[in-house]
Amino acid sequence: MTMAVTLETPLARVLGPKTATGMAETLGLHTVRHLLRHYPRRYARRGEQADLADVQVGDRVTVLAQVRSVTTRPMRNRRGSLTEVVVGDGGGRMKLVFFNHRHGQLKVNAWGMFAGTVGEYRGEKQFAHPDMHLIDASDEDTDWARALVPIYPASKDVSSWVIQKSVRLLLGAGGGLAELVEDPLPEEIRARHGLLPLAAALLDIHRPTTTEDVERAEHRLKWDEALTLQLTLAARRRAAALEPGTARPRRPGGLLDAVDAALPFALTEGQRAVGEELAAELDRDQPMHRLLQGEVGSGKTVVALRAMAQVVDAGGQAALLAPTEVLAAQHARGIRQLLGPLGRAGEIDGDPAGTRVTLLTGSLKAAARRTARAEVAEGRAGIVVGTHALLQEGVEFADLGLVVVDEQHRFGVEQRDALRAKGGRPPHVLVMTATPIPRTVAMTVYGDLEISTLRQLPSGRGGVSSSVVPVVERPGWIDRAWERLREEVAAGRQAYVVCPRIGDVTGPGDEPEDADGAPDDEQGRSDRRPPLAVLDVAEALRAGPLAGLRLDVLHGRMTPDEKDAVMRAFATGEIDVLVATTVVEVGVDVPNATVMVVMDADRFGVSQLHQLRGRVARGTHAGLCLLVTDAPSASPTGQRLAAVAATSDGFELARLDLETRREGDVLGAAQSGRRSAIKLLSLLEDEELISQARAEAHALLGTDRGLADHPGLAAEVAALATDERAQWLEKA
Ligand code: ADP
Ligand code: MG
Repeated sequence: MTMAVTLETPLARVLGPKTATGMAETLGLHTVRHLLRHYPRRYARRGEQADLADVQVGDRVTVLAQVRSVTTRPMRNRRGSLTEVVVGDGGGRMKLVFFNHRHGQLKVNAWGMFAGTVGEYRGEKQFAHPDMHLIDASDEDTDWARALVPIYPASKDVSSWVIQKSVRLLLGAGGGLAELVEDPLPEEIRARHGLLPLAAALLDIHRPTTTEDVERAEHRLKWDEALTLQLTLAARRRAAALEPGTARPRRPGGLLDAVDAALPFALTEGQRAVGEELAAELDRDQPMHRLLQGEVGSGKTVVALRAMAQVVDAGGQAALLAPTEVLAAQHARGIRQLLGPLGRAGEIDGDPAGTRVTLLTGSLKAAARRTARAEVAEGRAGIVVGTHALLQEGVEFADLGLVVVDEQHRFGVEQRDALRAKGGRPPHVLVMTATPIPRTVAMTVYGDLEISTLRQLPSGRGGVSSSVVPVVERPGWIDRAWERLREEVAAGRQAYVVCPRIGDVTGPGDEPEDADGAPDDEQGRSDRRPPLAVLDVAEALRAGPLAGLRLDVLHGRMTPDEKDAVMRAFATGEIDVLVATTVVEVGVDVPNATVMVVMDADRFGVSQLHQLRGRVARGTHAGLCLLVTDAPSASPTGQRLAAVAATSDGFELARLDLETRREGDVLGAAQSGRRSAIKLLSLLEDEELISQARAEAHALLGTDRGLADHPGLAAEVAALATDERAQWLEKA
């Protein structure tokens, strides 16, 4: 390469136009930086690996294999010939099929790389017309001779070996690379943590000789990712700390004191401590950015309500955003009930010293909606309850002082930016989640939030015991499950039965309601029966094992009014058994409910199951959670369910969730090969590295706020910012 190439050079200037276009369009690789940071997914070893044994029908894969046999015969029903090639590696075999094949080089014993979508014909896995690259003698003195052949995330248009060749072109003989890439990591940081220089790391990750090369290179490259991410987050924290907000100091004798007096229980130690933390932060004139994590049922709502009351007392408004309308309605009901006349200021029986609690959801009729919006805009509504969409809909507030986001793990950076962009002084923000956040996630995805934790559950809770009901192995257990449910109802309790799907009223398009379901590796399989549906299960239960009980359904296809009516009836005990989709997943609070039966439990994610289980035993009665599945106990799925049943420790389950999701990632996102800025860093495995990078980022910004002395790092941070950063930050 003679022209001056930098990391920002467009690939179109260094590669052929077809390759460059393909890389841009199908892999999102536009610049030299992108390509150099497009790391191999794995490395194949000639003759040793067992790729072929593992591939699944439908996967798009690249394999390194050796030709075992080649047979060509005329086709029976058509003109032309059919060539069948059997290739194998150390562990498996696969058939390649070509019509009218003319590749003379496909000879027995030849090695090659084959890429395509795995199909199946008469029970045998095969590739029809795969892309391939046969390794010939002239390759032997290049990368092919190496023990480890890099396999890149590739696409239909750009194969792994084309990427390999292009990277080799960029890396040159190795000598040119050092000038091309300036190492963004300061020397001291490298020395302190024993990290390879960038050029060496890139060489080793793309053209390793040993697996130790790969490990050392990965470690160094993970540092780039971690440090860049932590610098971004630290910069945000700093910017946030400089932002002007409005102090909302505590005022004695106001709504907050009234709430405290009205509470039917004593606050737990944790609720009190977090309350103090929030009270102090609301009193500062920088906007609060805080995450409140607390086990399901730990009583986050009242903590939020007290913060909202403080803001109202200081003359501002508070918005409480829930993930569903059902939950928004429940919150509004609960808060109104607790405030009594204090929540009805302006009404005949209202207390003029109080405020109004206004529910503002998409399902309000036009007139009611206008009234509600006016109350909000004119500031008469001190407490506004709605769904997460509320802020996107451009509702005007007179003086929004606090936004509480309930049960939203993904209320991330962008939404907070949007709040800030609304003009005026940004409100304080409190995000609440019952999904405990592992430390690494807290340091990354939520890295610019302060975190409070409610560890303790209010005392006197009965606790939930959970069991897996494996219907295939133990057909009798399901009958016993319904018996147990009947016993609870007979004792005056109530139950939920949750199914993954609504059912066949409209036929196709009846998607599972949740976005996060089970990991990808289990979702796309065509050989499974469709998930159980609320409507079918309700009918079967009514006619069978639960005949005579008062049973009703709740799902996303009902109108908001219908949903609300059912929720009320369930809350007041007029319904014994609620057969529902995951609309009841979060937040729903009916203390008398003690049984949760999850049908097709394997279709739900770990955190979801934990959330669902959190719907029962919210009062003093002990609860029972039954995870019904036809997955064998010994399968990974069965074991995942067993793990959920075995522990009620949300932190442990959050970790498990992360692990299973990552499996999904490996097979899903990574398979598609799209570029993303964070490739190597693992939230599960790299806790120590992330935490060291966090400390380094903090120190760096302390002495070099704008990264003026570290242009390489500044460039990395800028690249992350323009990247699919948001996507990653919002993920997990
Ligand atoms: P979550 O943290 O899951 O959102 P909630 O705020 O819905 O939990 O509270 C769960 C239940 O516990 C509610 O019925 C609530 O009224 C009750 N609760 C909250 N705090 C206490 C407490 N200190 N003592 C007893 N019950 C409480
Ligand atoms: Mg809640």
